[in-house]
Amino acid sequence: MTPELKVQFRERLIQDLAERSIPGIPAYIALWSVIAFATGFHHSHPAVAYPAWIGFLVVSSLRLLYQLLYKNLYRFGPKLGDGLFLTSVMIPAGLWGGLFTYCIAGPETATIRPLMVMATAGLCSGAMSSFAPDRKIAISYLAVIILPACSSIIVFAHDLMPLFYLMLVFIGFTLLQLSRGHREYWTALGNEAALAEKTRQLEDISKIDALTGIYNRRHFNQILQFEWKRGSREKRLLTLIMMDIDHFKHINDTYGHLAGDDYLKGVAAILKGAFKRCSDVIARYGGEEFAVLLPGTPLEDAAAMAENLRQAIASQTVKSGRIRLKATVSLGLASVTPDFRIPPEQLVSLADKALYTAKNKGRNQVQCADAPLPPANAPFLAVVEKTPAGALPDSKKKVVGG
Ligand code: GH3
Ligand code: MG
Ligand code: MG
Repeated sequence: MTPELKVQFRERLIQDLAERSIPGIPAYIALWSVIAFATGFHHSHPAVAYPAWIGFLVVSSLRLLYQLLYKNLYRFGPKLGDGLFLTSVMIPAGLWGGLFTYCIAGPETATIRPLMVMATAGLCSGAMSSFAPDRKIAISYLAVIILPACSSIIVFAHDLMPLFYLMLVFIGFTLLQLSRGHREYWTALGNEAALAEKTRQLEDISKIDALTGIYNRRHFNQILQFEWKRGSREKRLLTLIMMDIDHFKHINDTYGHLAGDDYLKGVAAILKGAFKRCSDVIARYGGEEFAVLLPGTPLEDAAAMAENLRQAIASQTVKSGRIRLKATVSLGLASVTPDFRIPPEQLVSLADKALYTAKNKGRNQVQCADAPLPPANAPFLAVVEKTPAGALPDSKKKVVGG
């Protein structure tokens, strides 16, 4: 786990720490209730038992309050949130550490001592697993809860030295457990980050055409849907250029498919240079067919850009090995103000028709669709299958809009 990743996951760490330590919130009051009231300690030492009980009640409530509010607290500043979390963890730990010390060094506390040792060990183990993501908090916790008791044995209770040694062994094993938990947490987080990055990369790859490096048709269709909805909402013009390389088959047949591939890559590069606005979407629509979606661009402006593009392609050569390839393109444009009630494919259909007009009129030219979109409330016909003769039988017509 790199330091950068630790910074990146800081917010996540705080959230995890807060959530992992939830089970510890009622632990102090529950443990102390059993120890103080089941052993009669509250009768023999009321001045310690009751204030401690009230203390745990108050700090547990404050910790609970922090749990409910911590997301809002962090909005006021991470330092405040961190500080409050640390305080809400260390105050009950300090209180427990004080009681543990008292039951070692205080008068007539032998009855509760074994229970306190067990409860303290349990609290420490739980805390090590909860605070494992942040070693500083975990070690501070261990120090606050155990070290005062250890020191009090050395200073006041030499007869309890076996307990002191036991606590040293316990601290050693607890630190080992902490180090393992810490490693596991950060490894899991690192793996999660790597997986998220890989998923993002895969998503990116799934949008891209492998040959040309521009968007593929699948992603183009997704953007078209998105822009169509946005254009419908904002009543904003959507312009589409469909472009097809003229006689591309001839390039393949004459120079081979690899040369054809190089030419496609070259055309994609010219397209990228021609449409640089971040809202422009360039995609490979089919084999040697490209689509450019220009949200908010009026037809006249798009037609001028298309004409520049046509001239650029007609005048430039694309290198493929030792040969230089040159071809022309035909372009069809359509521009509409989208409407929710009409499918966006209608825009593609209009631009496609204009493209085929350009092809029919002799290629190497730009044509704009003059047909408006069908009225939103009128059903339109879409050809779903053509008979071999080109006629469209009634049974094959399908109403897809309206
Ligand atoms: P037109 O002017 O009417 O568009 O003629 P054309 O030859 O460009 O059109 P046609 O549809 O007859 O041929 C398109 C060719 O594009 C045929 C196909 O093999 C080729 N093609 C499609 N995808 C690729 C590809 O990825 N690489 C290569 N090299 N060729 C491709
Ligand atoms: Mg072609
Ligand atoms: Mg074609």
